[in-house]
Amino acid sequence: MEITEQLVIFWFRRDFRMEDNHGLYRALKSGFPVLPLFIFDRDILDHLGSEDQRVPFIHQEIGRLRETCSSAGSPMLVCYGFPEEVFQSLLQQAKIKAIYTNEDYEPYALERDNKIRSLCKENGVELHLFKDHVIFHKDDILKDDGDPYSVFTPYSKKWKDGLSEDSFKHYPSEDHLDALWKPSKSYETDFPSLKDMGFSGAEVDYPSRTVKQSVIKQYGDKRNIPAENGTSRLGIHFRFGTISIREKARKARELSDSFLNELIWRDFYSMVLYQYPHVVNGPFRKKYEDIPWRNNEEEFEKWKNGITGIPMVDAGMRQLNQTGYMHNRVRMIVASFLTKNLLINWQWGEAYFAEKLLDYELASNNGGWQWAAGTGTDAAPYFRVFNPLTQQKKFDKNNEYVSRWIPELNSDDYPEQMVDLKETRKRCLEAYKSVNE
Ligand code: FAD
Repeated sequence: MEITEQLVIFWFRRDFRMEDNHGLYRALKSGFPVLPLFIFDRDILDHLGSEDQRVPFIHQEIGRLRETCSSAGSPMLVCYGFPEEVFQSLLQQAKIKAIYTNEDYEPYALERDNKIRSLCKENGVELHLFKDHVIFHKDDILKDDGDPYSVFTPYSKKWKDGLSEDSFKHYPSEDHLDALWKPSKSYETDFPSLKDMGFSGAEVDYPSRTVKQSVIKQYGDKRNIPAENGTSRLGIHFRFGTISIREKARKARELSDSFLNELIWRDFYSMVLYQYPHVVNGPFRKKYEDIPWRNNEEEFEKWKNGITGIPMVDAGMRQLNQTGYMHNRVRMIVASFLTKNLLINWQWGEAYFAEKLLDYELASNNGGWQWAAGTGTDAAPYFRVFNPLTQQKKFDKNNEYVSRWIPELNSDDYPEQMVDLKETRKRCLEAYKSVNE
């Protein structure tokens, strides 16, 4: 359908909200009517399983944005296809003055945006990108000599020193929805169903986008106890931008330094991914490329299915498999067990988490796995091997968490511990030592 008015497009990617959305705000203030767009991107979707639980979440949130647009009397375009093709066709149907969007620093996104940039250039269309999903981006926080950081503590100090009121600025996109395009003739838009795109519906409950102030206030004390609701569960919302990082970081600064610290880790890993893109395909520290992994597939299956006979590991993996979530303390324990006790390449674990986690984020997942395996930036030293039984005594002393996820824990149906923890620790130290010498 041809559109005769001159428009700007706002392209949603990982920022599914009408409120405090930097790029959307800029588009709405551009002086041109704004057509919001979302693309169910086949370059991504074609590689996901049909039961992936993030796709129904995205679908639900895009539906919500579409309704907001509709209440404002405006359409939102939702396409299913390859971004370059979608834009090629759009540029033919409408007079597009500019495309507005928010930055995304993942390798695939950078490559995609480069293609769209070239297409825009060929067609005389402006492309405007804005920082929205982090407080400080790829090169905002650098060492005095201009090099990027590779250690968290000095980075976080500089991050805090760099804060100003501007860092938490609210961009009131929600107050300018009258600048959305109002078609003069009726303009019908499709909304592809999950089924049309080959996906089944939601089978898990998605965490709420709101969190009680008391959780944030007590975060420092309760964040390590997996049986408690002591963390925010906001991961999926940060990932898809259904909440504003600026608003949450502003709150965190008022209420909890340790919560703020976790948000800094998020910026840190995003920066690491951008500055050291080799981490996507291998260890941050190259010497660890040669660790003699055992990579036993049967053992990997036991780990995935939560039948290792080690309660903290099994409870964590079952929580992940059933809900798409795992508590951070337990993520560290299962990752240490896989990489160190079983000597299975951390990339196997990373890929499994990427398939299952609702809050999956390439930067933080890669950072978390490399940390646990001892191959990353701030890596736990290789000789620190978590003992999952000691961890249980410390962080789940009444067995509340493990019993919740392993109903047969105290019966004969629960498997024997699959490996001896002391022996496998020793084996791990020898393997790591062989590349450290
Ligand atoms: P909270 O504890 O309430 O923290 C608030 C927010 O801060 C989180 O939602 C997240 O956005 C951020 N955050 C917290 N801890 C970290 C951290 N260590 N690194 C980076 N950001 C952090 N986090 C992801 O968002 N996506 C992942 O794919 C991911 N994979 C991980 C894999 C491993 C092996 C490990 C050890 C950690 C991983 N983390 C990942 C970090 C952390 O476990 C999760 O962010 C956290 O458990 C999510 O729960 P929450 O929302 O209740 O977090």
